[in-house]
Amino acid sequence: MRDLSRVRRVVVKIGSSSITHENGRLALRKIDLLAKELADLHNSGRDVILVSSGAIAAGVSALRLCQKPQKTAQKQAAAAVGQGALMQLYEKFFLEYRQSIAQILLTKDVMDDPCQRENAINTFAQLLEYGVIPIVNENDTIATDEIGFGDNDRLSAYVAALVQADLLILLSDIDGLYTADPTAHPEATQIKEVHQITAEIEAMAGSTHSGVGTGGMITKIMAAQIATEAGIDMMIANAAEPDVLERIFEGEELGTYFYGCREILA
Ligand code: GLU
Repeated sequence: MRDLSRVRRVVVKIGSSSITHENGRLALRKIDLLAKELADLHNSGRDVILVSSGAIAAGVSALRLCQKPQKTAQKQAAAAVGQGALMQLYEKFFLEYRQSIAQILLTKDVMDDPCQRENAINTFAQLLEYGVIPIVNENDTIATDEIGFGDNDRLSAYVAALVQADLLILLSDIDGLYTADPTAHPEATQIKEVHQITAEIEAMAGSTHSGVGTGGMITKIMAAQIATEAGIDMMIANAAEPDVLERIFEGEELGTYFYGCREILA
């Protein structure tokens, strides 16, 4: 049984496709609604961390490029332009709900280096103590294959482990994990709960990709692997569901729920 009453600290990840229009431009109303839901979640007494994609999409829009660029330098330049624009929007909307926010940009080497990791842990702890919602993204402007997470699904799982969250929620443009890619197989059914990530579960993930974001179902399952191994429950839910976070915390069984590994007490 899902028990969200015990969740005191939650990491929410939002994908680019959930905060942009089909033409790639930022969907202001969606960002506003997200800020409102997260501020409310925080008001309910929980620590909240947001992992937000969308820097590259915001940069593409600001630079009036016709499509998402392919070359690394172009993507990094777009992210450099877009990250500030994205944070400015979050600042505007969160301010309206009297919620302080902070920006944290990470690369994978921060997780791997004990000293940098410790600094990140301390900064998150202090921000949460101050009642701030940290907004995390990969430091796209400098991330390379060697130091990059590659996608924000895995980044959010590492962040959840770093801050010892009770729950990670991946908000996406899909309702959850399906037995097969539902766009190609309309008969596919949604999986409600996953207790163990088996080869069968991995196979179900197929290679569902969205046009705007980086990840797909495969990276979400990889994130589930990281989170559940760290003992953290994880969910995939559709960002487009009205009041999705409120309904999740009211106990509605939306999305797909992955149970974190529990220590067996002797
Ligand atoms: N960090 C990228 C961005 O902000 C997104 C990566 C992803 O979509 O997973 O645009």
